[in-house]
Amino acid sequence: MYYNAPVIIIKSIDFGEADKLVTVFSEQYGKLRAVARGIKKPKSSLRSCLQPFCYSQLHFYQGRDLELITQGRLLDFFGNAREDLEKTLYSVYLMELLDKSLMDRMPAPELFRLTLDTLRAINHGGLNPLLIRRFELNLAIHLGYRPVLDQCVACGQNQDLTGFNLAEGGMICRKCATADTYRLIPLSGECLAILRQLEKASSAMLTRLRASDTALDQMEHFLEQYLEYFLERQFKLKETIRYLKPSRRRIDNP
Ligand SMILES: [Zn+2]
Repeated sequence: MYYNAPVIIIKSIDFGEADKLVTVFSEQYGKLRAVARGIKKPKSSLRSCLQPFCYSQLHFYQGRDLELITQGRLLDFFGNAREDLEKTLYSVYLMELLDKSLMDRMPAPELFRLTLDTLRAINHGGLNPLLIRRFELNLAIHLGYRPVLDQCVACGQNQDLTGFNLAEGGMICRKCATADTYRLIPLSGECLAILRQLEKASSAMLTRLRASDTALDQMEHFLEQYLEYFLERQFKLKETIRYLKPSRRRIDNP
């Protein structure tokens, strides 16, 4: 059976002498793995549209084990992002998150649209860390791990929330925290206010959202711990991004 779909390229790795095994994210089919034959030959027309975080229209043939990619057309190369090391790293980081967290062939149309929107915003605008935080939060929610941010998960009250407990999946109030059974990740009131807006915020809204450096650091630390806790994996690229810390603080408007 032949079919075609617009996809985001998550990654492509060598597969035998001349082929590549390509992992893609499609709105309709979710994450798929497909073989591109002869891709390493200089004249292969597929080369340009199978690079990580490209948006491409691909034609597939459904094989017995793996799909074959028969044709492709580049829809968006995100050229600005590729010319900027930090933007490239952020874009690749999104791909790594998708690669490590999504099951094969489980459609996630909202997450697909968010990924495309985030790649476009990174490409066209400034490097706004809130774009990445919004993506991380929505990925966790999509995976079924919505953090409880507006009340204490232990007693239910919404005053004096002091920090986040990973095992409970939510905030803990000052009173419950004194029971000393919880290891808490600090989240200030500012952080909580921003996190509550992040899920539904459009990219345009994110450029207007102001966050202090402390709040940005806290949110980054929190979401990293939160995703790692649930995915039980380490995100290698995150280390690389940390090295670029000074400019990570920058929030530019497009
Ligand atoms: Zn409590």
